[in-house]
Amino acid sequence: MTIAPESFTAHVDPARIQRDWEALAAFTAPELPYTRKAFSIPYKEAREWLAERMRDAGLQVRVDAASNLIGRLPGERDDGPVLMAGSHIDTVEAGGRFDGIVGVLGALEAARALQEAGVVLLHPLEIVDFTCEEPTLTGMTPLGSRIMAGALTSNDLIGVLTPLDESLADAINALGGDSAHVEQARLAAGDIAAYLELHIEQGPVLERANVPIGVVTAIAARCSCFITLDGQADHAGATLIPDRRDALAGAAEVVLALEQIASDSELIEETVGTVGWMRLFPNMVNIIPGHVEFRAEVRSTDARMLETAKSRLQAVVEETATRRGLQFTLQWEDMEQPVTIPDRLQSILVQACQTLGLPFMQLPSRATHDAARLASIAPVGMLFIPCKEGKSHVPEEWAELDHIVQGVHTLSYALVLLDQSL
Ligand SMILES: [Zn+2]
Repeated sequence: MTIAPESFTAHVDPARIQRDWEALAAFTAPELPYTRKAFSIPYKEAREWLAERMRDAGLQVRVDAASNLIGRLPGERDDGPVLMAGSHIDTVEAGGRFDGIVGVLGALEAARALQEAGVVLLHPLEIVDFTCEEPTLTGMTPLGSRIMAGALTSNDLIGVLTPLDESLADAINALGGDSAHVEQARLAAGDIAAYLELHIEQGPVLERANVPIGVVTAIAARCSCFITLDGQADHAGATLIPDRRDALAGAAEVVLALEQIASDSELIEETVGTVGWMRLFPNMVNIIPGHVEFRAEVRSTDARMLETAKSRLQAVVEETATRRGLQFTLQWEDMEQPVTIPDRLQSILVQACQTLGLPFMQLPSRATHDAARLASIAPVGMLFIPCKEGKSHVPEEWAELDHIVQGVHTLSYALVLLDQSL
């Protein structure tokens, strides 16, 4: 059966999408818009609101053991593999109103439009809000999609605290999960026929090209490490420069060296490197820093370039510490692999854009997403829409309603095409 896209895209309702994202944006820490960190009170309230919207949309709502919120639209072959679409509604501190949110609300709107048009899919369609995608928990995020993909177990949760100093296990349970049996949320290869995620680009490429839709070709991997440098805390006036072992001066060299590594012409197309977190001790204006801790990360869409950047970073830390007489430790915490989006999924997304008459371009995702975690158990595809000036993870993050609507059109049609082809 051929389903004309106009039959259901006509039911995608821009005003309803706008009401949804505005309502969701109101669930924020009042003093710090737009902050809805995983496990916080605004997050829990937003989850309840979203579950209601899913029920209003006629979806069967459940929370899995990992506390992922799932709304299910039954299909004709209801006991078979599911089509899945979603993302996350948690934010970083002073983050935005669209990162992740567009993917969840867009999938919800797609489910509504398909039903209102009387389209019955063969596969069940599951709309998922994955728990804690943003790095609220060091080394464990994205949490919900990792658990679903089988990469974390109940044992991994033991002793982990949320930033609110609540045990992670209790926090998962408070959202309706079952922290002692998170393995029950695990899905195997074959359970998900395909997963699609609509997301803002979080970079400037689409906006600069004036193109409304991006079909993602690959998702960059993020590898981050925890580094300590130990020197000697001393009086900042009385200790002469040759006698110093300044841990912060060593860390500063590493920060600049990482920028150089990622600027290397061999790597620059696909690789970035950042130090975004640092603590120094004793952190007094008149004392030479004796101990510094920081996290450095490298990201790339290319596995070989990622390895090169990682080993060069490691060499720089060793060389700098040795030359400056510092002790160092370096521990890799997150070690992801880049994901290549299967050609079949890219083709379906391209076909959807072409049929809908929407200009598109194919580009890699330099940020990571829940889709990257699910890629180990399911074919995944991603759609991007532009965001203003490429800004994300800041309160000014902005996506135009027209682009969100075009993204939902593409997502809905791609789901229909996948449903018929899988
Ligand atoms: Zn996101």
